Amino acid sequence: MFYRLRTDFRLSIITLLGASAVLGITPFAVMRFVQNDLLAGLVDLFILLGIVSGVLYAWATGDTRRSGLVLAVIASGGSVAVGSVVGEAGLFWLYPCLVTTFFLVHPRVAIGLSVASVLALMMIETAFSSQIQMWSFATTAVVVSASAYVFAHRNHSQRRRLEHLATIDPLTGVKNRRSMDEELDLAAANAERSGLPYALVLLDIDHFKKINDLYGHGVGDDVLNDLVALVGSHTRWSDQLFRYGGEEFVLLLPGVDGVNLRAVMNNLQQVLRKHLKHPGGPVTASFGVALLGHGEGVGHWLDRADHALYRAKECGRDRIVYAEEADSPEPDLASSDPSCAPG
Ligand code: GH3
Ligand code: MG
Ligand code: MG
Repeated sequence: MFYRLRTDFRLSIITLLGASAVLGITPFAVMRFVQNDLLAGLVDLFILLGIVSGVLYAWATGDTRRSGLVLAVIASGGSVAVGSVVGEAGLFWLYPCLVTTFFLVHPRVAIGLSVASVLALMMIETAFSSQIQMWSFATTAVVVSASAYVFAHRNHSQRRRLEHLATIDPLTGVKNRRSMDEELDLAAANAERSGLPYALVLLDIDHFKKINDLYGHGVGDDVLNDLVALVGSHTRWSDQLFRYGGEEFVLLLPGVDGVNLRAVMNNLQQVLRKHLKHPGGPVTASFGVALLGHGEGVGHWLDRADHALYRAKECGRDRIVYAEEADSPEPDLASSDPSCAPG
């Protein structure tokens, strides 16, 4: 429970809102019923029930996006209802609701809800005792919302930048291993659901260390970037390339198998043979290809591609090796494949 609160920012805000609502609104709800103010008591009760249900839904499903939106709407609508029913004393509730909304939903949605709640209250005659009070309220509410918007917007863009930095390889700009793990899990889940075939290609540049040693690290980096550009421009938009580490990449190809997969791979190999170069000549690569087996785990899938790549290297590099089917017996890696087909 504490782990989820620490790692899920929106869930922690939702929980804080729920706890504050229970502690803050319950005494008022009780007081309204005791004073026989049924309408105000019922409004408080509905707000409480709505917020508690939203919090429970967020904990049960983990869908903090949807429950955040529902809670933001309840908080804004609830504060308008309280303001219109109890008048002046209820207006103060709008301020914490305005600020909390910016933590629950996208800043643009939050500013929309804030403006709508302030306008709604201004249109309800019973909410204010004078015009001066109404305009003071509107001005201060707009100042609070504007400050919250600036803060939330900055926070939002910094979080997006951090997410980007955490998932992208800084040298080549392709997704890194962390995003690869997520995408492979998604692919396996989608294959299970839809039956779509998925091929995984482990691509490793041949004798890359020599390129670094002979021409320098900068030239090595250029080769890595050239490879990414070539693969990117010769694969479909739905194919994804990840930097697995060093000079090793993973290419995830959805929707291809059999002869189509072989055609795609042959084409990619030809493109690299023709266009990937260092100052002393062409650069080649070895490929290990594995089709996702039925019900196969991602770790096993990667292992099979890795074994195929290992065989490609053993058989002389600059070639494509296709892994055995997922459910066929594992090939014995200690004894090298006697039949090294031409690359
Ligand atoms: P093989 O054909 O067996 O794959 O041999 P190799 O030389 O390609 O493989 P090895 O694993 O021996 O060397 C990989 C080299 O890649 C060593 C490392 O210095 C280099 N490398 C790793 N990351 C980078 C990088 O970001 N930029 C550059 N320029 N070199 C890198
Ligand atoms: Mg290599
Ligand atoms: Mg390597």
